[in-house]
Amino acid sequence: AKAAGGNRYELADADSDARAIARHSLTNRLPAALDNGEFFIEYQPLVRLTDGTVRGAEALVRWLHPVHGVLGPDQFIPLAENTGLIVPLGRWVLQEAARQARAWHSEAQYGEGPCRGPLRVNVNLSPTQLRWPSLVADTVLVLENAGLPPSALCLEVTENALIGADEEELRPLRQLADMGVDIALDDFGTGYSNLSYLRRLPVSTLKLDRSFTRGMQRAPADPVDVKIVEGIVSLAHTLDLSVTVEGVETGTQAEHLRMLGCDTAQGWYYARPGPPERMGTLSLVDAAS
Ligand code: C2E
Ligand code: CA
Ligand code: CA
Ligand code: CA
Repeated sequence: AKAAGGNRYELADADSDARAIARHSLTNRLPAALDNGEFFIEYQPLVRLTDGTVRGAEALVRWLHPVHGVLGPDQFIPLAENTGLIVPLGRWVLQEAARQARAWHSEAQYGEGPCRGPLRVNVNLSPTQLRWPSLVADTVLVLENAGLPPSALCLEVTENALIGADEEELRPLRQLADMGVDIALDDFGTGYSNLSYLRRLPVSTLKLDRSFTRGMQRAPADPVDVKIVEGIVSLAHTLDLSVTVEGVETGTQAEHLRMLGCDTAQGWYYARPGPPERMGTLSLVDAAS
């Protein structure tokens, strides 16, 4: 068996070598990329399901690599996490997103059309950023410099980043929450935390992973998915948490989720991630209904 598998093993090795080299060269370039301004942010609207108005947008980072073109976060965030570059990169994203939210706040035009009230900005935090000692101080400084109220910022953290965190480790998030920053539990349902654990966390929003709503893209909806979402929404509302659903791709899905009592939706049905200027010119599919 060993002899027969020999070639295949060699191939697999060559393949993983190539991948390791690619990872290595991307990793090496990360610091220069940050200095050279090769990162940029796209914003994806968050839509209130009750009336179709826009309440804000999630900031999603991209890397315009001089050779490989636009790289998505899945291709470089894990590398930045491993090397610690995630801290300065994350700080840049936070700064940039806060500056952008301030600009949205100031633009009078957002009183009309689907964008209502001051627009909020959601920023993703990875596990390393959560343990970064000056997270609270840096966030306060960024908000002050941007002239942005804490309530205009939502920090998204994944369930897996918080699993097992004790009170000490949760303190920075709790401090931010007490200041009025909204904390969202991202990719909710994909981790292994039990539901009673939720009560201990300083979160105000659950972001339901899109795997739960895929079964509602077309009628008839998957009855098991409907039951699960129904249960999560009822639990969330009991705990005074709001529910955001991600990955909404069809009108059928949006309608189901609205009827199930979900509060906010995000997905290609409304808009793909795009440049910040687009927030002012959105005409959403169901904004009028
Ligand atoms: P996420 O936080 O779960 O973000 C949602 C992802 O789903 C985004 O992928 C978004 O483009 C995609 N998406 C949005 N609507 C739809 C839809 O209707 N259908 C489908 N199939 N996908 C949809 P993206 O931009 O590639 O980001 C991937 C992940 O990278 C994010 O997942 C987030 O965990 C991470 N990320 C992005 N920006 C940052 C950042 O600034 N810092 C950190 N630490 N992580 C980031
Ligand atoms: Ca997110
Ligand atoms: Ca998510
Ligand atoms: Ca995700």
